[in-house]
Amino acid sequence: MKLIFLGPPGAGKGTQAEKISEHYGIAHISTGDMLRKEMREGTPLGKAAKGFIDKGELVPDEVIIGMVENRIQAADCQKGYLFDGFPRTIAQADALLSISDIDMVVNIDVPAERLVERIGGRRMCAGCGAGYHVSMYSKDTCEKCGAKLFIRDDDKPETVLNRITVYERQTQPLIDYYKAKGLLRTVDGDRTPETVRTDILALTEKLVSRLRTRLTLKR
Ligand code: AMP
Repeated sequence: MKLIFLGPPGAGKGTQAEKISEHYGIAHISTGDMLRKEMREGTPLGKAAKGFIDKGELVPDEVIIGMVENRIQAADCQKGYLFDGFPRTIAQADALLSISDIDMVVNIDVPAERLVERIGGRRMCAGCGAGYHVSMYSKDTCEKCGAKLFIRDDDKPETVLNRITVYERQTQPLIDYYKAKGLLRTVDGDRTPETVRTDILALTEKLVSRLRTRLTLKR
């Protein structure tokens, strides 16, 4: 199963992607998480990416495409994968066409006016990069590794507004792009994480039956 989760920053893509990928045993590919890991490790890629990320701008397409191309070769991608935060531009989506097929794109829809408030509650672990939201987790240390939680530089209000503008300008056109290919399904993301997950699971379960039928017909 090969999925894309599309949506503005703060829509809950990461939270949903973690659960859904776990449910199906497929790889969760978050280009944002990959870039933050490079930054934590201080690699040349991480250092180059930091300038863009801290301003709320997108990292150049060729860097992202190279990263994803490598990532999908890994053993954990054999059963499938779920892209979270990729593609973010038409150029990335075009490049993806030549390296992988995609079964479904889930667009998590949240009104722009709710995003700033939602992002304001996000916290991240300084040790392992796990994400939390204050509405669901009130401690200031990570449940998984015990390290301190902090607010991502690019989650601060001055950067968030730019990230939303960048999303509207560069990523939102992908909604029509995937609609035209018949791959787009939209869920209302402005509800509890559990309700949103139930809706997404209904879509992915339909997809699983479709993929099974296709496999049976091929045999
Ligand atoms: P995210 O955690 O997905 O919100 O990503 C955080 C930041 O990483 C974004 O604001 C971008 O600067 C960068 N980034 C993540 N994914 C991409 C992508 N597919 N293309 C370009 N930049 C990206």
